[in-house]
Amino acid sequence: MAKVDWGFFGHRTINEMACYTLPQELFAFYKPHVSYIREHAVDPDMRRYAVKKEAGRHYIDIDYWGEAPFDILPRDWDRAFAQMAHIRYINASNDTITLKECRVPGPEKMDSFFHSKVKWNYFADEWKANCDDLKSWFPQINDCTEVLLHDSLTDYGILPYSLLYSYDQLTNAFDQKNIPRILKISADIGHYIGDAHVPLHTTINYNGQLTNQDGIHAFWESRLPELFALENYDFYVGQAEYIPDVNKYFWDVILDTHSYLDSVLLIEKRLRREFPSDRQNCFEQRLERTVRIECKEFAEAYHNALDGMVERQMIKSISALGNVWYSAWVDAGQPVLTDIDFGTIEIPTDSIRIEFDGTEVHH
Ligand SMILES: [Zn+2]
Repeated sequence: MAKVDWGFFGHRTINEMACYTLPQELFAFYKPHVSYIREHAVDPDMRRYAVKKEAGRHYIDIDYWGEAPFDILPRDWDRAFAQMAHIRYINASNDTITLKECRVPGPEKMDSFFHSKVKWNYFADEWKANCDDLKSWFPQINDCTEVLLHDSLTDYGILPYSLLYSYDQLTNAFDQKNIPRILKISADIGHYIGDAHVPLHTTINYNGQLTNQDGIHAFWESRLPELFALENYDFYVGQAEYIPDVNKYFWDVILDTHSYLDSVLLIEKRLRREFPSDRQNCFEQRLERTVRIECKEFAEAYHNALDGMVERQMIKSISALGNVWYSAWVDAGQPVLTDIDFGTIEIPTDSIRIEFDGTEVHH
């Protein structure tokens, strides 16, 4: 099944509530755009089928890489890529040669090769590096006819790396006072921050498919908030704070989120065993379709047993998002944005993807 997340309700709420954590100076800028930030909270999900590699930005199957704290996984994207990538080339005699086997210089050179010659192209439909780039970096390769790239990182998700990438883009947009891009990236990064707080977005067992708990993904992140958030959650969080080390912050979020995974799975498993089985699944009419969904009473039992986890993760998302927007603005030198005449600015309504080289691709 497709990996879904928080649901429209959760993502939109997180994006909207984060606006209210901002200090007055920055809030004055976001205030007229709250509905934009809210409505576009789900754009990245819409893009998943149009943009290759978009999907990997919504999760990281971190347990694929071993056990917490997953030190095997470099926290720096260039380094991680260089370590996990398979760069091969085809030589003049039509042999396929793996770069790692051909006595390339140390890892720093691989990092910089990825950074300079490969990364900018990462989200393109066809991900390529060319022979000239390869030769310019590794002069000992003199008979390349084609470069083949495969990175095993992307398949298991790049959420924390991609968050830092979006953060840099946001800082840039603030620096350039580019209002449409500030709003677009603010809304997008809100989505990814929300995803980063869902334990099932940090595991290879993302829908309980490995433990016979198929459907738990939507149960936890859509069904529970839709049933209980509006009436019971208190979304008040304090004012946004500056984050001194953003990359570390994103990784801390992922590790914290992942630490709740066991409870998410084990508690549901126990309840499935203990709760009367004929009162677990109900049928509801949705958009003229009958769908099977967890009964309210059963959902309530799960929600209670989780003891506030869903609410806490939503609140953490709101708080983190406010911190991220605020920090990007501070890192850009706190530009004054409130003197801009918004009437003259065209806010994009479609989904934009912004490349590493700064160009925009519309879908
Ligand atoms: Zn998502």
